[in-house]
Amino acid sequence: MLDRNKVPDVLVQSSLNSIENAGILFSPNLNSRIAEYQPYEYDYWHRYLQTEPGSIEEIRNATKLTEFYLLKTSQKIQDNPRDRKLWAERFNNYSYELYGKVDSLQVGQIALRDLAEFDNPSTDTKLIEIYKKMASLALNNETSSDLNKFEGFKTVLLEKFDPIIRVISDLPEGPYNPACIRDVFGKIIDELSKEDITWKDWSITNNPVNTMLSVTAEKKQIDIPDARAEVSSKNTLLGLALHELFHARRAIAGYRINDEMLTFGLPDYLAFEEGFATLIEYICTGSKIDKIGDRYVDTALVTGVIDDLFLTRPELIELDVMRSNARALSRNKKFNEIDAKRLAINSSNRLFRGGDGKPVLNEFGQIEIQPVYWKDIVYYAGFVKAKKYVLDSLESGQSPDSILDLVLLGKFDPTNQLHLDYLKNKHNL
Ligand SMILES: [Zn+2]
Repeated sequence: MLDRNKVPDVLVQSSLNSIENAGILFSPNLNSRIAEYQPYEYDYWHRYLQTEPGSIEEIRNATKLTEFYLLKTSQKIQDNPRDRKLWAERFNNYSYELYGKVDSLQVGQIALRDLAEFDNPSTDTKLIEIYKKMASLALNNETSSDLNKFEGFKTVLLEKFDPIIRVISDLPEGPYNPACIRDVFGKIIDELSKEDITWKDWSITNNPVNTMLSVTAEKKQIDIPDARAEVSSKNTLLGLALHELFHARRAIAGYRINDEMLTFGLPDYLAFEEGFATLIEYICTGSKIDKIGDRYVDTALVTGVIDDLFLTRPELIELDVMRSNARALSRNKKFNEIDAKRLAINSSNRLFRGGDGKPVLNEFGQIEIQPVYWKDIVYYAGFVKAKKYVLDSLESGQSPDSILDLVLLGKFDPTNQLHLDYLKNKHNL
């Protein structure tokens, strides 16, 4: 029997050295991973062909196949330097199949809001120029916050996650390093376990190969690695805890009713899962979530979807550093160029992982294409989706309580009719 986790994410080593020395990305475990999954290829196809067209199982199996081919294409890019254009096109096509594409109107909207913050005489003119170009794509001139629309919802939300609020409000002000964050999450889980015994199975880990915080439903673990960035303030820590424990809580709901799909996520659940988690973070901290907008905009910039704007990886890293500087300026914060560069490199590694990070040029030396793995656009796309879902639901008269109770039933997308049918048919929910 095939394990649902047999086909993993494209993995690429993301170390500072891998870029600074040679400018080339590489995926050290790629070949061994492909060799491990290769024997199941027939099995994947078999399963896929056996499922009913248009069913949730079909999408699930098709997704697994696509992930597997993405992984294989990643290997082709690395092994066939002469056919890079072909493999880069395929690679990006798989990214598209799995995660959709960037919407230039959204790019415009993000750029417009950022520009309102960046536009001061000390900001790098190159940054302003690129952001002005993107902002021209926005549909309207709306730059004000919509937080006030979520006030009633926020009150109910905070009640539902009360143990988290209690633990964090007792802390001294930050910054908090990863060891400290682990400690806080441990305390929160202790508190949550008092109300709900299922939390007792969850643990906090410090995996040395990771650089980012992650929640793994399969292992019931929240990994907070030492290599992760520190958290600057109490408010940011609160947002982080709410976000991550939302993921864990939805997995727990799936475990509770013994449903593997609701525990690990129905196909295409990811955008809503991340979007709603980020929405919670946004509503409760009241601060702009820069990262997801940045990743969305960055994807647009390196895939050439916006006229005249097609950045290479070094150019993207440069832009990212300028952007951090612009934010620090406008928020009266100290700017640390080394930290900013490290973060910029990490995020560019994520975007280009699975590829080699290099553009394919035409005979005139212009960029034709470059392999990009744009999974991270789901975060912003999902945020927009989740926000609309909550506002529409409130407007149609649903209470915040009922919205949250539905969303917390497991890892699914309530805006997806197939998912709602699944809940109804399988669990009568
Ligand atoms: Zn998340």
